[in-house]
Amino acid sequence: MDFDPVFLAKYPFLKATKEYVASLGIPLSEMLSHPVYGASLELGRLRVLDCMEGRFRPEYGDPVRAQLTVLSYPLARMLAHGLGRAAVGRYAQGEAEAAYELFRDDAEASRLIAKDLGVSETGGGMPFPQYVSLATALTRQSPKWKLANRLVDAGYVDVEAGEARILLREAVRNRVLESVDLKRLPEEVKKMAAGLRTALTGDKATLDIEALDYEALPPCMKAMTAALEAGVSSHSAMFNLATFLANLGLKTDDIVKVYSKSPKFDEEKTRYQLEFLTGGRGGTEYTCPACATIKSQGLCKNECEVKHPLQHYRRHSRKRPKAAAKV
Ligand code: SF4
Repeated sequence: MDFDPVFLAKYPFLKATKEYVASLGIPLSEMLSHPVYGASLELGRLRVLDCMEGRFRPEYGDPVRAQLTVLSYPLARMLAHGLGRAAVGRYAQGEAEAAYELFRDDAEASRLIAKDLGVSETGGGMPFPQYVSLATALTRQSPKWKLANRLVDAGYVDVEAGEARILLREAVRNRVLESVDLKRLPEEVKKMAAGLRTALTGDKATLDIEALDYEALPPCMKAMTAALEAGVSSHSAMFNLATFLANLGLKTDDIVKVYSKSPKFDEEKTRYQLEFLTGGRGGTEYTCPACATIKSQGLCKNECEVKHPLQHYRRHSRKRPKAAAKV
């Protein structure tokens, strides 16, 4: 079978990637010490970090680079799954958004991806169970995804073409989230996962989780805070702000304080929703969307030269170490 490494570099979650890697005929343990392919482990580590910050974009400019980018994907998945549920959720979101940026305006790529994932990319009727499995996370961002707000006919949910591409992105995210057998990880990958975990924990510790540095908030989050205080916040804005604050590491009590400034504040409801969003009820820990998604919602307020609002906060918060102001 012929493989196009550039196509797989863009969409390495496709089933063909497994066959492509197998076709190279080099076991994983040997690949890691290979003079060329060995670089894929470090690329995998960077891929995890970039995906978690929402800034990952695959590189495929020349054949070797494309090949290394393909190989970095299975390694990045192993590393991310070794980091725990919250981290792998952010990683998967970054992978899905990077792919979405490439396929959203590419009908042929969308068709091939949809075929591989077993979903429709053209809109029309989507089988009810499939719609529910793909749209669950989206219902936290906008009520338009709730079944109650959709046309359902004979077991099929009506989906527009643009929406079908968003659901395809969710299908990509689900595939990235599929479980990985961590018991079989090579020693090099285990060591790198441990180092990555320490680096990420250390990075989080540099943030003051007791107090929010309001000045470091990106413009979109400042606008969402203002809308919340004015009582005119949309569902998407509420979701984005809550997940942003939770992903910063703020405690639930501190997030509740932010939400208490809304004229519509209901403490019990807010605490319930926060617990749900942060995975406290045994479910998914939701992550703040990247800038691309916030832009598509019309909630971006400036061009900050970042791919993710958390990146903006980290950059600006580090610039003023002790100027944290309580909100
Ligand atoms: S570029 Fe990103 S961080 Fe900046 S306002 Fe827009 S969505 Fe927010």
